[in-house]
Amino acid sequence: MSKKKVVYQNWIVELGFDPAKFCYKEFDITDSEKTDKAVKAVRESLDKLNDDEKEIIIHYHFMGQSYAEISEKSNREIFKLASLHNRALKKLKKKLSKFVENNYGIKSDSDIVCPICNHGRKTEINEIIFRRDRTKTWKPVLNILKDKYSIILKSPQILIGHEKYHM
Ligand SMILES: [Zn+2]
Repeated sequence: MSKKKVVYQNWIVELGFDPAKFCYKEFDITDSEKTDKAVKAVRESLDKLNDDEKEIIIHYHFMGQSYAEISEKSNREIFKLASLHNRALKKLKKKLSKFVENNYGIKSDSDIVCPICNHGRKTEINEIIFRRDRTKTWKPVLNILKDKYSIILKSPQILIGHEKYHM
C-alpha cells in the first residue's frame, strides 16, 4: 500500500468511516485535480497549527516516521507525542471539516464517537494502553477501563482502533 493511501485511510477512520467500504471507491487518488485541491486545503490548514503540531503531522503522515523515530529525534516521550498527534489531528479535522463536507459529502460535526477519546482522563488512559503488557490479551486493560474509568467495552475492538488510529 502506498503511503498516500495510508494517509487517506487514517483520515477516513478518524472521521469514523470504515476505509474498506469507503476509501478507494470515493477517494480516487488518481484524480489529480481533486487530489491537488485536497493537498492545498491540508497545507493551508496545517499552516494554522502551532509548530509542534505541524511537525508531528509532517513527520508522521508526510514522512512516514514512527513514534519511536520521532521520539528519538525530538527527545519527547512517546505517549506525549501521541497526545500531541491526537490534538493536532483534531484541530486539522476541525479546520478541514467544511472542505471535506463540500468536496466529499462527509459531515464531521458528530465528533469522534470513541469513548476513550471523549473521556476527560484520556491522556492517563493512553499511557495505560501504551505501557500495557503486550504479551497478554486486552483483558487487563478492559478491566482497568471498567473499574477505574467507568468505560465498559464488550470487546477490545474499540481499543485496538483507538490505539491504531487515535493515539
Ligand atoms: Zn479514540
